[in-house]
Amino acid sequence: MKKRSGPALKQEKRPLKPCPICHGGGFVKPMFHQMPCDRCEASGVVCKETGDSLAMADLIIQLRIRLTERNQELVEVRRQMAAMRAESNGRGYGAGGSRYHGD
Ligand SMILES: [Zn+2]
Repeated sequence: MKKRSGPALKQEKRPLKPCPICHGGGFVKPMFHQMPCDRCEASGVVCKETGDSLAMADLIIQLRIRLTERNQELVEVRRQMAAMRAESNGRGYGAGGSRYHGD
């Protein structure tokens, strides 16, 4: 095995929580202008256990994992909606007897 120079970045999902400073928004508004929250690196999330911000490389992995999950959820929800639509319009007619012309 080759030795690696730095610690291996964990690819597992780690528990996060909304940032207590910006309440998950990623931005703060100390005066009149919005500024990126420096507590959470403008990500809106911090480590659930320590309450600290994640290292940038770690943060990208954690957000990417969540993004992939959301995308998969979206695909699944769309599939279910399409299935429900096909079911309720099985004869080509929607509620009220009008033909459904949605996508
Ligand atoms: Zn924050």
